[in-house]
Amino acid sequence: MKNSFLENLNQGVLGLKPYEPGLPLEQTQKKLGLEKVIKLASNENPLGPSPKALDLLKGQLNSFSSDLNRYPDGNAYDLKEAISKKYSVDMNQITIGNGSNDLIEFVSRCFLGEGKKAIYSQHGFAIYPLAIKSTGAVPIKSKAKNWGHDLELMKDLVDDKTKLIFIASPNNPTGTAKTLQEIKDFLNNLPEDILVFLDQAYFEYIEGTEFDIPFSLIDDYPNLVISRSFSKAHGLAALRLGFCISNPELSNYLNRVRQPFNANSLALNLGKIALSDQEHIDKSVKINSSGMERVKMAFDSFNYSYIESWGNFISFDAKQDSDEAFQYFLKKGVILRSLKVYEMPQHLRVSIGTEEEMDFFLKVLEEYEKDLSKK
Ligand SMILES: *Cc1c(COP(=O)(O)O)cnc(C)c1O
Repeated sequence: MKNSFLENLNQGVLGLKPYEPGLPLEQTQKKLGLEKVIKLASNENPLGPSPKALDLLKGQLNSFSSDLNRYPDGNAYDLKEAISKKYSVDMNQITIGNGSNDLIEFVSRCFLGEGKKAIYSQHGFAIYPLAIKSTGAVPIKSKAKNWGHDLELMKDLVDDKTKLIFIASPNNPTGTAKTLQEIKDFLNNLPEDILVFLDQAYFEYIEGTEFDIPFSLIDDYPNLVISRSFSKAHGLAALRLGFCISNPELSNYLNRVRQPFNANSLALNLGKIALSDQEHIDKSVKINSSGMERVKMAFDSFNYSYIESWGNFISFDAKQDSDEAFQYFLKKGVILRSLKVYEMPQHLRVSIGTEEEMDFFLKVLEEYEKDLSKK
């Protein structure tokens, strides 16, 4: 039997390959029959969410439960107010996403379609080409420079069909970041009618003011959108929450393609608390820096080359095929990420975990190195 309706698939959808998430912890553990498995594969906050957010959850479990029949606040008023206060932006500049991935979809749907193009970088976040293709537009992959976005080249690739450019700073999976000056230079040289989506999912981990891109930049460049996520430093990946700040006129349109209740009540409530718990954010950033230092020292001592990272993960050259290296670590109970699909055939990405998780990873790395040198 032939499913003839499939011939009517949108052209853009035909070319899509589904996003491959990191292996889930429990199923993997069961499958491998190992006592201990750690997941350092999805750049999650190893400390979990803000304890204050968890306290709220526990304290209000009854009222949350009794409200499960109610739709969430479609305007996300309280969360928007908290974002507006914290970052000194107007509430009408804010668009809430079901994860920041949602926002990538919104800009794509608003600006792309058949006959249009959008630019993203080689070794860039995998969701960009997915979102671009699903609209029927053509994704233009700009060759990376020193593993990072080559902004000069990205600008040169612009033609009259180009409507949108994706930039991630820090970028996943390479961890590379752009300075405020680099972003300004890029925007100054770009035609004003092209929208730039600056993805700052790892913003909180940036330690170094020259990489801090303030939302106020949008006042000078109305064609700039900046997104943030609750999935990384805020430790709320499961609840799916993100937001972006843009020119109010643009957020008006982004909100038109947004599903009316795209962010759930729990996410809205806990996200608001997470945003205000600076103590937890600071602690998360601190654990990340010390874990990062340890991993880099180990890489140096075993002579693994790595890409300097501004996020909560680091990618290194495993000295052999990524997928084989990935399997080695997996069998020893460490779930990493193979970067083969990112055109990095020998690289693995490791998320920075707790001190104990890093002990385990470093022990396995040492064994890996020993076994590799026997080959
Ligand atoms: C993890 C990540 C996101 C976050 O996605 P959410 O939908 O907010 O979970 C966005 N951009 C990049 C580059 C990421 O690595």
